[in-house]
Amino acid sequence: MAAADVARPQREVCAALDRGDQPRNVVGPVREVAVHLEHELGAAVERVPECREVSAPEPLLLRPVEHVDESELGREPVRERTGAVRGAVIDDEYPIAGPEDRGERAEHRLEVVDLVVRRETDRRLHRRPYDRDVARDLLRNDELAAQFDLLADLMELDGGDGFRISAYRRAAARIRETSTSVARLALDGRATELEGIGKTIEGKIVEAVTDGEVHALTKRKAEVPVEVASFMRLPGLGPKTARRIWRELGITTVAALKAVAEAGELRGHAGIGPAMESRIAEALSRPAAAEIAAPDRALLGVTLPRLRAVVQTLEEHPAADRVSVAGSSRRMRETVRDLDMIATASDPEALLEHFCSLPWVLEVAAQGPTKATVVASDGLRYDLRVVPPASYGNLLQHFTGSAAHNIALREDAVRRGLSVSEYAVTVVETGEEHRFEHEEDVYRFLGYDWIPPELREDSGELAAARAGALPALVERAHLRGDLHTHTTWSDGKDELEAMVDAARARGYAYYAVCDHSQRLREGRLEAQSAAIDALNERVAPFRILKGVEVNIRKDGTLDLAEAELATRDWVVASVHSRFDDSPTERVCAAMESPYVDCIGHLTGRRIGKRAAAPVDVERVIEKALETGTFLEINSQPDRLDLSDVHARAAREAGLLLAIDSDAHQVAALDYVELGVAQARRAWLEQADVLNTRTWAQLSKLRKRRP
Ligand SMILES: [Zn+2]
Ligand SMILES: [Zn+2]
Repeated sequence: MAAADVARPQREVCAALDRGDQPRNVVGPVREVAVHLEHELGAAVERVPECREVSAPEPLLLRPVEHVDESELGREPVRERTGAVRGAVIDDEYPIAGPEDRGERAEHRLEVVDLVVRRETDRRLHRRPYDRDVARDLLRNDELAAQFDLLADLMELDGGDGFRISAYRRAAARIRETSTSVARLALDGRATELEGIGKTIEGKIVEAVTDGEVHALTKRKAEVPVEVASFMRLPGLGPKTARRIWRELGITTVAALKAVAEAGELRGHAGIGPAMESRIAEALSRPAAAEIAAPDRALLGVTLPRLRAVVQTLEEHPAADRVSVAGSSRRMRETVRDLDMIATASDPEALLEHFCSLPWVLEVAAQGPTKATVVASDGLRYDLRVVPPASYGNLLQHFTGSAAHNIALREDAVRRGLSVSEYAVTVVETGEEHRFEHEEDVYRFLGYDWIPPELREDSGELAAARAGALPALVERAHLRGDLHTHTTWSDGKDELEAMVDAARARGYAYYAVCDHSQRLREGRLEAQSAAIDALNERVAPFRILKGVEVNIRKDGTLDLAEAELATRDWVVASVHSRFDDSPTERVCAAMESPYVDCIGHLTGRRIGKRAAAPVDVERVIEKALETGTFLEINSQPDRLDLSDVHARAAREAGLLLAIDSDAHQVAALDYVELGVAQARRAWLEQADVLNTRTWAQLSKLRKRRP
């Protein structure tokens, strides 16, 4: 199977396999490696990402904040930069011309999903034992959801009714995150039990299940060329411009649009000027652009809790010995395609059988004596390999990847007369094979320090590990506070007191409440300050900081008066609209303010939804150093902004970064785990992260106020 498999062929292959060709290890290990490499090298665009929040990662071990080391952590000297980090970044697109509130709405669709929790519900929903044979022929949830999303897109292009469009998008999101088969529920007349799905939508689901496609979608597709929908996701374009490109220029495919933009023939039409034209051409020339229409990766923040739940379930089985997350999930990549696990077991087949019969499994794509792949109702593929204990270390190393890291490691080994396979390291001259139970021993035998999975991207980690010069990466337990959070005073879901209690429970010593400035007008800012003062008395010595998240306007000014900014302990300034409109200049202007401590989510990207704004990150880093402003790593699963590349450039320039949750509800405080992972992938150490310091230390690093 190629990495580019799409849903339907995959299902057919699976069906064929199950039909009697019988589960087996279709290809040998060599082929498996190839498949894996292909996965790793696969393109970088995300799947779904509805900008939803899901259940937070499992809370990690918390430790009290009273650190022994109270020494002032100074700034790192300015070192050489990693080279150019400029201009437009990234691999996804966004509809800037969409209604301003669209992003807002998506941002706060807070839904909690958790496989473990859901399993009880699932059992209730399936009154009879799960009928896999029927389910296999039904549309999967992700396929159904894609139909509603496409329908919404096509309606929007056609200037359709906003209410229905958002109802379809909501339904798509709900279907996608339901862990039981929605097609099955609809056939039973029970899909309406799901929030956001009424009788009309249930009827449409039944149409899709019985006829293959929602009738309204079939009709729309006859009227609106499907590829035009992907125009909307190009930077600077929205439904209106996409429609004009189609109607006025007769362009109906991405390829045609690319050709016209590259030929300079787009300008002057559909309200497009030369600058936007070159931006479109540039966006379409990125390799990721080809996948706009068929993204198939999922956000780590969505998949990790589910994967961990599966690992835990497997660990509880009597046949299981060790079970570990592997692949890109173990490396904590922002997005993942397949969810890989490896295990050792006293009875491998029993463990695999258990895995394949878990209640949320919709399809068993492959099942052999040592390996099984299943597809869950949410469309995610879970891969479990049971491996011999003697080679567990080798295999864990191998299946963690990345492909680039493994290739570099093998090439390096060859130069030293060693040959590395997934099962063993062989001394070429003698043929002597070395298998290791522990991954650390594999690296040690090859002459390296053990390399944290987050670093395994072939970006200098092997040389550093050989020289004993790997960074001592920052850990979640190093964080002493959170510097960007929200409450119900603006658009948060949980109240100030609940957020503060949750922060204390996480072992923090300080906590900045940074509600949106536009929601704190007409005396509300003062009222919130009074509420914080009162609460601070109760929670001392814990300290609630009076923060604010102030908007950076189109002209680079801030939407809160200086007198009000001066009352805040911590000011985060962020761009929330018009991302394409001189973002670098606006951010740099904001940093000139003596009251702005930190810039929020610098590039504004929403992974899988909206591309990073064309921010000249290198210039911003310089300006930050010059003005004494900090940048953050925003930990929201679909932001993770700064990206790893930018965060690493910031570190190498000597700029300190905050790791912020930007939590809008209690559970989201734990997203900092993702931000920490991002920081680790950027090689950040404890001292590189601003909020590993005490507030006393940190407040001294803020710029001087007039
Ligand atoms: Zn924000
Ligand atoms: Zn925020």
